[in-house]
Amino acid sequence: MSLPDGLRNTSQAKNWVDSLPLSYKYSAGVSGQRFAEGLKQGKILGSKCSKCGETFLPPSLYCPNCFVYSSEYVEIPPYGEIYSFAEADGKAIALIRFQGVTGGLIHVVKRPSAGKLKIGLRVSAVFRPAEQRKGDLTDIEFFEIRPHT
Ligand SMILES: [Zn+2]
Repeated sequence: MSLPDGLRNTSQAKNWVDSLPLSYKYSAGVSGQRFAEGLKQGKILGSKCSKCGETFLPPSLYCPNCFVYSSEYVEIPPYGEIYSFAEADGKAIALIRFQGVTGGLIHVVKRPSAGKLKIGLRVSAVFRPAEQRKGDLTDIEFFEIRPHT
């Protein structure tokens, strides 16, 4: 059995170019909704497992360790630490982890006026003014370096 010419030589295959106009809404889900509502209120919410006590960020509806429904949401203090980062085009994006929390947030970090970003620097979330918040991750305008105390 031989393949048709169009399958051996794709430049000879019959085809057409078209587009499909699609619009969609992506559901944030139960825990994503709570997370978004928290951001709008200027809070970073995580979920806490009632069985193992582990806290997750972003919040998860079920504990990935115990497979237990997580109905408890806890406010995570907006102070974290740079776990990793990348810089390009004058901007810095970092994975920020929070003490006692599994997971973290990837977000913009305001570059320091002096010195360089580095792993382990302590940062804090700077929320937009309440009237500008939309209930998404951009409600945190950026993270900034915390001065050592
Ligand atoms: Zn658990």
